[in-house]
Amino acid sequence: MNCFFFNFAVQKKSDKNTKFLNRFSTRMFLENKANRNSKRGWIEVICGSMFSGKTEELLRRIRRAEFANQQIELFKPAIDTRYDETAVVTHDESSRMSTPVQNSSEILLYVNFDNVEVVAIDEVQFFDDGIVEVCNTLADAGIRVIVSGLDMDYLGNPFGPMPKLMAIAEYVSKQHAICTRCGDLAQFSHRITAQEGQVLLGEKDSYEPLCRHCFNEVNKK
Ligand SMILES: [Zn+2]
Repeated sequence: MNCFFFNFAVQKKSDKNTKFLNRFSTRMFLENKANRNSKRGWIEVICGSMFSGKTEELLRRIRRAEFANQQIELFKPAIDTRYDETAVVTHDESSRMSTPVQNSSEILLYVNFDNVEVVAIDEVQFFDDGIVEVCNTLADAGIRVIVSGLDMDYLGNPFGPMPKLMAIAEYVSKQHAICTRCGDLAQFSHRITAQEGQVLLGEKDSYEPLCRHCFNEVNKK
């Protein structure tokens, strides 16, 4: 009898947890509420290594907003022209037109604050530190800001403004690639060419994603 009540109590509790989790999971990727009068902004960061699907995830969120007829602006640093001058292109070649900008403050000049609802920025690690203030300004103005970028450079050091962006964001999603050597989840972008310097734009043959263990092994040699 006691056992029955105990199970029942556990069951009730887990129903409650499931409801809570459901509510929580539907809030993971917030879209602007139907009531546009109470327009509130926030910042989402999508980060991870090379080949972790950051840009795919950014484009997925943009497509969802497009289905809802939201006004979207997509920016990328002018430095990133590896596939196309203006389009944001993923490694698997899906793409969307974007506005290339030379520096972070240029973004504010392009954004129409009267009607834009979503501002997305790809390869945000290449921007100057001013990008942090730009993202805050946009979110404070009621705009949903989605940025995607490499959280670490090829040496495993935090990349440019990424730590600050992750700190000020409401939502941070860390994407993982698959380690090319052992198949575990990878978070490092190991450079397989001899070139040095933080900025070497990522073609498939310049980097391999590695897990912590394999990254440490190759750097021992
Ligand atoms: Zn590995």
